[in-house]
Amino acid sequence: MSDIVTQAVLLAGGRGTRLGELARELPKPALDVGGEPFVMHMVWNLARHGIRDVVVSCGHLADRLEQAMRSRPVPGTRVRFVREPSALGTGGGLRNCLPLLQESFFVLNADSLFDVNYPDLALHANGGAALALRRVPDVARFGAVQTRHGKVVSFAEKGRSGSGWINGGVYVLNREIVEALPDGPASLEHDLFPALAARSRLGAVPYDGFFIDIGIPEELERARQDVPAWRRKPALFLDRDGVLNVDHGYVHSREQWEWCRDAREAVKYANDRGMLVVVVTNQSGIGRGYYGLEEFQALMAWVNRELLRHGAHFDAVYHCPHHPSEAREEYLRRCSCRKPEPGMLLRAMEEWNIDPLHSAMIGDSPKDVQAAKRAGLSRAALYDPESQSLLDSVREVLA
Ligand SMILES: [Mg+2]
Repeated sequence: MSDIVTQAVLLAGGRGTRLGELARELPKPALDVGGEPFVMHMVWNLARHGIRDVVVSCGHLADRLEQAMRSRPVPGTRVRFVREPSALGTGGGLRNCLPLLQESFFVLNADSLFDVNYPDLALHANGGAALALRRVPDVARFGAVQTRHGKVVSFAEKGRSGSGWINGGVYVLNREIVEALPDGPASLEHDLFPALAARSRLGAVPYDGFFIDIGIPEELERARQDVPAWRRKPALFLDRDGVLNVDHGYVHSREQWEWCRDAREAVKYANDRGMLVVVVTNQSGIGRGYYGLEEFQALMAWVNRELLRHGAHFDAVYHCPHHPSEAREEYLRRCSCRKPEPGMLLRAMEEWNIDPLHSAMIGDSPKDVQAAKRAGLSRAALYDPESQSLLDSVREVLA
């Protein structure tokens, strides 16, 4: 299986001519949507999927774009800018980024936002090329895509109307394909993709996540309503030990990590539904001195990489290292985060703008259920790994 993909290129060199006055001073991706540059919603969405190395291909009004993006950084994400010397089109702009590119990477049009399970798309590329398809009520503005057996067969010209599948502007490509592009201006849509499709080398995967293209003024207006609404999300909160992994007691190394039945599939199920997946775990083993914070964090980073290999991910992990009576001095306290207290859930709800009414919690202890109730979640379930798979439990609680 190919390795996980953690890099994305944002194609932001376009001139935005259809937006007229609206994009005269600022490039389209930098236009304000809900208090931040449109493109930063994309960077945020990539980051939560573990994609934290971002390369921006820019040209038109590059200074303004860089200034806007640097003013609203996403913590933990590195953003680098590559300017094209002259207008090179999407293909030429991407080729221009090659010195910074890894073996495989995502490529996204920076003036459209399509919320897909990116790690899942990467699995479908098999180290080659794949694009994300979106069904729309009218393909006229975009051009329809025809597929067969999971591959693109052809691209229709714009103009034909009616519902159908379109290119959603999210791709996975490898270096080799980009290296083969000619020097100078080139278009991914007109030059590269039809050529790959003709050789059955372009995978196509349908998704139904949030989609908006701000290329025309009405859609920019709609984005200003709909993007902030999309940012408010339901979450699936999961306890860790006894839910994701078999509870062997104070698990803190890879050797001790044993997945519960269908746990990775359960996480992916929630990811695919557009929910955040947030782990909330009491880790008094840290307070007791059985293992360190660094070991806990290293283990969770490894667990998340294992998830990414299965097209799944955690959006966030919250832990409580405290204990009221059995901990070293610095961790000895009656805190508000140790479950059954709801502190970890409340903090996550605040930091991630979570909608509690459509969220749920699964734990293997009554303390987990209590914490969920105190946090105002509408649904919580007790999980018994002996009698059920985690996937079945998640399906049940989200039904
Ligand atoms: Mg537990």
